[in-house]
Amino acid sequence: MHELAIADAIVQVASRHAAGRRVVAIDLRVGHLRQVVADSLLFGFELTAQGTSLEGAQLNIEAVPAAGACRACDAYGPLGDFPLSCARCGALDVEVLEGEELEVEALEVERSEVEMARSGGSP
Ligand SMILES: [Zn+2]
Repeated sequence: MHELAIADAIVQVASRHAAGRRVVAIDLRVGHLRQVVADSLLFGFELTAQGTSLEGAQLNIEAVPAAGACRACDAYGPLGDFPLSCARCGALDVEVLEGEELEVEALEVERSEVEMARSGGSP
């Protein structure tokens, strides 16, 4: 189940950026070609986020459709499913430019706690 490994990576990246702050939501971009099952990823995230500052955070998955440039006819467009081919001429000689993303795009942390920490002064 590779979604679990992906979820684990998301948790690690997000908690590093959150630096101890409580995470409310995570925006994720997942390319179509990653063949990630959203439900499995959500489930895996729930599991791996348990006991971290990410527990209970909402995972927003934005699916990025596959797109690329055709080396045969120079068209740029959607590639659809495997085998990847040009939508215009049908050639298989395409350069994939979108659809392989797997990145944490944004992180929403609980603001009140950050301000509290700041106004509370340092020990
Ligand atoms: Zn083409």
